[in-house]
Amino acid sequence: MALRNILKDEDPLLRKVCRPVTDFNERLWQLLDDMAETMYAANGVGLAGPQVGILRRLFVMDVGDGLIEAINPEIVSKKGKQDGPEGCLSFPGKWGNVQRPKRVKLKAQDRNGKWFFITGEDLLARCICHENDHLDGVVFLDHVDELLNDEEV
Ligand code: ZN
Repeated sequence: MALRNILKDEDPLLRKVCRPVTDFNERLWQLLDDMAETMYAANGVGLAGPQVGILRRLFVMDVGDGLIEAINPEIVSKKGKQDGPEGCLSFPGKWGNVQRPKRVKLKAQDRNGKWFFITGEDLLARCICHENDHLDGVVFLDHVDELLNDEEV
């Protein structure tokens, strides 16, 4: 495994729409392993393909309940609302309030191409929405009216 470089701030790759993953092979597994290692090393709860310069539809996340790998993910339902502070490994030191659904259901493929569903609430729902946005070139700052100071987080 190896750490990948996390793209930051105005990097144009963070604004691209990603293409689906088509090959479920060792190269994909290596990428997923590297992304998880990079996320944990940076103390993040999620990391999406474009953040490491890979314009493919995949992300990894761990909100404290174990690693989830989502390939070709699609949010199939959203319920309720939550407001809370959000940040991103690609925008270090920046925080803002973002309204997200309280609960989402995600459909995705695992590293072998098998489809699965997960339902996320609260932080997991927030994380799923945040990471899924990255695959369409959308970053959390697009949803933020006003940045928070460190003391307000
Ligand atoms: Zn992010």
